[in-house]
Amino acid sequence: MSIEVFNLAKHYNNQKAVDEISFSAKPGRILGFLGPNGAGKSTTMKMLTCYLTPSSGYAEICGKHILKQPLEVKKRIGYLPEHTPLYTEMYVKEFLSFVAQTYGIKEIKQRVEEVIKLVGLTVEQHKKIGMLSKGYRQRVGLAQAIIHDPEVLILDEPTSGLDPNQLTEVRNLIKNLGKNKTLIISTHIMQEVEALCDDIIIINKGKLVANSSVQALKEQYHTDHLESIFKQLTTS
Ligand code: ADP
Repeated sequence: MSIEVFNLAKHYNNQKAVDEISFSAKPGRILGFLGPNGAGKSTTMKMLTCYLTPSSGYAEICGKHILKQPLEVKKRIGYLPEHTPLYTEMYVKEFLSFVAQTYGIKEIKQRVEEVIKLVGLTVEQHKKIGMLSKGYRQRVGLAQAIIHDPEVLILDEPTSGLDPNQLTEVRNLIKNLGKNKTLIISTHIMQEVEALCDDIIIINKGKLVANSSVQALKEQYHTDHLESIFKQLTTS
């Protein structure tokens, strides 16, 4: 397993934003992380990527403990936050070179060229980030997440706000990345789960309410409609 989560919890005052959840994820499979707004998805992702300290519980990323070995975890993980913090005044290549530097990558120029090609940024590579459309900014976000070739990728709503063409392109990109990495993606779009995900976890009010393969979940609820399963599990 590349991701193992053990009774992970985060409390804000009296609120249990994440309430002792446990799950795992393996390489070569894409795990869809679903839940209504405010369910605790982003909070969970921030704890897995060492941006937030859990109130209790822990996780291991490729065998590295998020509390005891945060640097080792960050080396192995690529993270695309919900609101990608991009430096809009920087040029695409300048920004990616900067990120590569922070990871201590040796052949920076070559690696930046590789990821630009990989995420389909070639035509826009000479522009300032602030001049890019939402779809291309998202590609810059993906590029910074994969520049150090991490084993694990955590993508928080990577396709939100994209037009239908951009959506297809970014989904294809994610599907390809998922072939040899462990990938968690949060989304509200059931079509996206159908198109991309092998496994699914659903969280509601901080608690895990589903954890299985997409196929097994459909069989368990005797329906092919993920949306109705989602509603059943999250409207209590
Ligand atoms: P999701 O990503 O599923 O929409 P979040 O993880 O962002 O949900 O939030 C889970 C809950 O935790 C929400 O009720 C949110 O208001 C609360 N929360 C998140 N961050 C903070 C914070 N810094 N202080 C207090 N409450 C927070």
